[in-house]
Amino acid sequence: MKEKVFILECEIYSEDLIYKKLKEIIDLLDLKDIPDKILIKPNMLSARRPQEGVTTHPAVISAIAKVFKDKNIIIGDSPANFSRPLEEYWEKCGYKEISEKYNIPLKKFEKSILIEIKVNNKTYKIPLTSFINEFSIINVPKFKTHSLTTLTLGVKNLYGLIPGVSKSILHSKFINPYDFSDFLVEFYKKIENRIFLTIIDGIVGMEENGPSAGKLRKIEYIILGKKPIYVDYVCCKLIGIEPEKIDFIKIYKERYGIEEIEIIGEYKKIKNFKLPSTKKYFFIRNRVLSKLVSPLVKNFKIIPVINEKKCKKCYACYNICPVKAISKDLKFNRKNCILCFCCFEVCPYKAIDVKKSFIAKIFT
Ligand code: SF4
Ligand code: SF4
Repeated sequence: MKEKVFILECEIYSEDLIYKKLKEIIDLLDLKDIPDKILIKPNMLSARRPQEGVTTHPAVISAIAKVFKDKNIIIGDSPANFSRPLEEYWEKCGYKEISEKYNIPLKKFEKSILIEIKVNNKTYKIPLTSFINEFSIINVPKFKTHSLTTLTLGVKNLYGLIPGVSKSILHSKFINPYDFSDFLVEFYKKIENRIFLTIIDGIVGMEENGPSAGKLRKIEYIILGKKPIYVDYVCCKLIGIEPEKIDFIKIYKERYGIEEIEIIGEYKKIKNFKLPSTKKYFFIRNRVLSKLVSPLVKNFKIIPVINEKKCKKCYACYNICPVKAISKDLKFNRKNCILCFCCFEVCPYKAIDVKKSFIAKIFT
């Protein structure tokens, strides 16, 4: 049987409109066994207002809550920046209001279980929120670009089920973006049967240097399906990118295969969707130059730099860096930096830029 992915046209963030559209589709889907206990997992990357386009819009979360109101629902996510209280995230992202309106508890990922993930013949013990044992997941990502994985959609949003700081520590184990994508695939495979639905908030997405400092882009669709990897595949088609050009989709397809997809819903391709400037850099570094040793390769570099004018000295970047490549006086140690972009991702003031060396500028 073909895997179904729905594309719903939706131009505005109206809870009623989104509710109506979702309800129709959910009634169509073969979801006889709707679980009783559901964890709604938004993308709560940062404590930012909905209109900044960094986090899943509360109108989408609220519409989902209304569709499944008869079930035992909780909302939860665990941002990597642990220097701010979670209550501030809930408030700013607009989830506190939903919690009060529908009497849905907002949950911290305080207890973890350990799961084993095998990547490149090595086994890693990974902490994962213990809610996964009891609750099925409705995965609600935001449609955004990502400096390390090119796009952050359904599969990548599940990374947030790993509590807090463990996420940035894992980056130091998978330094190469391809290895990190390999990890994402194996992590996803391990928890795949706990994902009940994936509903992507693509009404307003983010292009260029996401996931937090890119430009807002109207996409005006909600993309929905049971399996995140298929939903992600369709999202790539929607923005005119060959899905196999995204590492985690390529790895998944080669290793586990992707069945035929039935796309339901009319859609127009989104033209000129801009990917992060790091995409070309990593491609050339890893696929073209990796086997060469020459001054050219040595000088083919990018590095995060702080924009002094925008920096508010909140130290989120300092706290998150998994390899301590940022000093207390907020200077980057270029030798230690593994280009994980965690600092870039958590900076609440878009105060970190990506600087290219002369050679990298020429080649990218
Ligand atoms: S400086 Fe930023 S990009 Fe470099 S390792 Fe630290 S967090 Fe990652
Ligand atoms: S660069 Fe951003 S995250 Fe780092 S201290 Fe400045 S404002 Fe905070």
